[in-house]
Amino acid sequence: MEHIYLDYNSTTPMEAAVIEEMRRAMADNYGNPSSVHSIGAKAKAALESARERIAASLGADPLEVYFTSGGTEADNLALKGAALMNRGKGTHLITSTIEHHAVLESAHYLEKNGFEATYVGCDREGVVSAEALRQAIKPQTTVVSIMMANNETGVIQPVREMAAVCREAGALFHTDAVQAVGKIPVRVTDLGVDLLSLSAHKFYGPKGVGALYVRQGVRLTPLVHGGSHERRKRAGTENIPGIVGMAAALDIAMAKQQSEHARMTELSEYFITQVQSRIEDVHLNGSREKRVPSTVNLSFNGAEGESIILSLDLKGIAVSSGSACTSGSLEASHVLSAMGVDVIRAQGSIRFSLGRGTTKGQIDYTISVLPEIIARLRSMSATYHKDA
Ligand code: PLP
Repeated sequence: MEHIYLDYNSTTPMEAAVIEEMRRAMADNYGNPSSVHSIGAKAKAALESARERIAASLGADPLEVYFTSGGTEADNLALKGAALMNRGKGTHLITSTIEHHAVLESAHYLEKNGFEATYVGCDREGVVSAEALRQAIKPQTTVVSIMMANNETGVIQPVREMAAVCREAGALFHTDAVQAVGKIPVRVTDLGVDLLSLSAHKFYGPKGVGALYVRQGVRLTPLVHGGSHERRKRAGTENIPGIVGMAAALDIAMAKQQSEHARMTELSEYFITQVQSRIEDVHLNGSREKRVPSTVNLSFNGAEGESIILSLDLKGIAVSSGSACTSGSLEASHVLSAMGVDVIRAQGSIRFSLGRGTTKGQIDYTISVLPEIIARLRSMSATYHKDA
């Protein structure tokens, strides 16, 4: 049975070229970049060359790129680091109800430690408005965090407008761009953001490595204390193979971004249209237009999400419901709830996330097996009726 992976928002497989760069970094470049001798200097050169490559892809200065252990740590450093550093100025922060848990839990932690947080909602399409943000800002607001593309729906947020609102109000603006980098253009200077998180394993790089862009002049309180690595913002010997792998993966993602975007748009539009024409009562969650095209979140009313996942898995197709971190729990997704999707519809939602390995043949196969699975699950439902 062919294995069909439609869960690229959870993680992505690495390309051979990335693995090879990492292998070389591990085998030939084992030094500690902090060592003074030439073996250390060679590792330092690899580290700084990766930083330059990543900075160039983001339109940043290499001095503005700080390596972390992934998107979660980058989000924590951005939010907590900015809030703690600016405590003297104010203790209010703003984020949205549709953020990844890395941001939401950082905000909750700050709330338990003397800060006040406002959670801005979104509309039915999953979009947070810059106007809603403007209304939530107070003189005491020091940091705002709104994601660039949502991991569950793919919906793209008006980050440029929001960054402008924050600049005017004198608050720092962070965006979690983990699901955007490599899929849509992400240039920090065009966006006008102060802080931006990325994670290598979402763009065909290794797991456990990411970065935080920190605009020059922005000060953060470090969360990990120790040596003077990463210009004192993040202590710990750098993960050289991971960082080199991230730079290699980002170079490839940048080179392929436009053509993959076009291919993803075509494949996902075909998928949505075909599924909706073959199965009744299927809703696309989130805006159809303002979306990273590789993410398709569909609700199959009357069929329960976890059962759809298991049935598709038996056919060799891997998908998710809700975000990867919460799948396995039957709680309705906080993102769909924030969009006003009712609990029953939210529980029948499936996230299909397409990627570099997705072919038209795989999509056709998925379309061909779905009607029977949904019909069977609906026939077992005590509450679902065709015209319900
Ligand atoms: N932010 C978003 C939007 C994500 O989708 C993820 C991963 O699912 C993260 C942050 C966390 O990234 P990492 O897995 O690198 O910690």
